[in-house]
Amino acid sequence: MRIVLLGAPGSGKGTQAKKLVDHYGVIQISTGDLLRAAVAAGTPLGLAAKTAMDSGQLVSDDIVLGMIKERLNQADTQRGYILDGFPRNLAQAEALDGLLGELQQTLEAAILLDIPFEDLMQRLTGRQTCADCGAVFNRFTHPSKQPDICDACGGPLIQRGDDNEATVSKRLTVFEEQTAPLIAFYADQGKLFRIDGTRPIDTITEEFHDVIERMKS
Ligand SMILES: [Zn+2]
Repeated sequence: MRIVLLGAPGSGKGTQAKKLVDHYGVIQISTGDLLRAAVAAGTPLGLAAKTAMDSGQLVSDDIVLGMIKERLNQADTQRGYILDGFPRNLAQAEALDGLLGELQQTLEAAILLDIPFEDLMQRLTGRQTCADCGAVFNRFTHPSKQPDICDACGGPLIQRGDDNEATVSKRLTVFEEQTAPLIAFYADQGKLFRIDGTRPIDTITEEFHDVIERMKS
């Protein structure tokens, strides 16, 4: 199994990726994890990434691609993998195809966990965490019984600073702008599958299994 998982921040992509890893025994390759590991290990790519991040810049496609290439050359990828957070734009998707060509592999599917913008806004801007026990609520989708008070321990519920509407809206807009060309790219290749991400977690997981079974046949 070699798939790309596409989904906006707040789509539940990470949750589903973990379930697929458990179910199919494949590995999850996340750009975020690779970056952190490379920086911590002080590899040449890690150092280059750190330099970019320290100066407030995005890590370049070359660095990200270099890390993906190193990762895909490791033996544990033989049973399959789920790419999570990569490719992030059209240039990376084209480069990934080139890289897979070198490795004599093909990508089987790009699965999009599809959720309307407004739902994502609610999921991300409504998040509240208990300052005392860490319990998580959502003002819209999973409210506490009393506003701003934790059901579990009575502690105060707080919102993260970067979960405000303006910041979230900007993040989602950037995501949509970058992802739209990717969706078209994989649709043209006949590899795009859409899953309705508004349904319950277990229903979504079942649909992932359906898509993967169809992909195999
Ligand atoms: Zn609490």
